[in-house]
Amino acid sequence: MITTLQATISLFVFIFGMCIGSFLNCVIYRLEQSKSLKGRSFCPHCKHTLSWKDLFPIFSFLLLRGKCRYCRKNISIQYPLAELATGILFVLIFLSASPNWPSGLGFWSFARLCFMFYVSYSMIIIFVYDLKHYLIPDKVLFPAIIITFIYKFFENLAFSHWDLIRNLKLEIGNSASVLNLVLAVVIASGFFFAIWLVSRGKWMGFGDVKLAVLMGLLLGLPNVLLALFLAFLFGAIIGVMLMVFDKKNLKSEIPFGPFLIIGTFIAMLWSPQIINWYFKLFI
Ligand SMILES: [Zn+2]
Repeated sequence: MITTLQATISLFVFIFGMCIGSFLNCVIYRLEQSKSLKGRSFCPHCKHTLSWKDLFPIFSFLLLRGKCRYCRKNISIQYPLAELATGILFVLIFLSASPNWPSGLGFWSFARLCFMFYVSYSMIIIFVYDLKHYLIPDKVLFPAIIITFIYKFFENLAFSHWDLIRNLKLEIGNSASVLNLVLAVVIASGFFFAIWLVSRGKWMGFGDVKLAVLMGLLLGLPNVLLALFLAFLFGAIIGVMLMVFDKKNLKSEIPFGPFLIIGTFIAMLWSPQIINWYFKLFI
């Protein structure tokens, strides 16, 4: 159950997430233009510097009816969608990361929350960028892999494996041992590497191999397998739908990164529930 306190904090987390989402759109635009992150935001069409009134997540978009205040050209729907998605995702992470908040709040639950926000932020950028350009930006993926590695390393130092298993119900993500994480990375990225090798890069890009390294480190076993399964399931459903509606044929490419990221988010947030539900089907 959600307490009033949690609901109040969730609202602030939602607003915070939407602000991060707004920043994230800016990062994506500058990655596309290979520009640095410094300087004020501006309209991509007329280059007019945006004022504070134009920078409220979603509300500015709605008030301006999706058009630039200065040149009246359409603002991409990517902007409000990414803001909304980041806001919702941050709330979901907050609620599953801190079920006993504030009594259960300690250094590690806070560190884990910050880490989860950071990883989600990186994955949303990869999601949007891969969807638009069929490319996973190393500038975002590599730092995410390194920070995940460092975080998991210290988490393992701080807790013995047995403590982690006992606390698993209270914590999101996977609190697996180092060996488990290494195995998860080898299995997940090895799988994509094999596909990449056999198809000579036609069925999967090398970006997916690298993204699978992040997934393995982040989720561990068996959660990474759940994420991969969901990614292929959603990929197949969307692929068939696109063929039925005649947008793509069997030979056209669909970027796979977004599916991997949706699978990762679902596994990150709900893997214990999904795995329990699955096993109950057979008992
Ligand atoms: Zn403009």
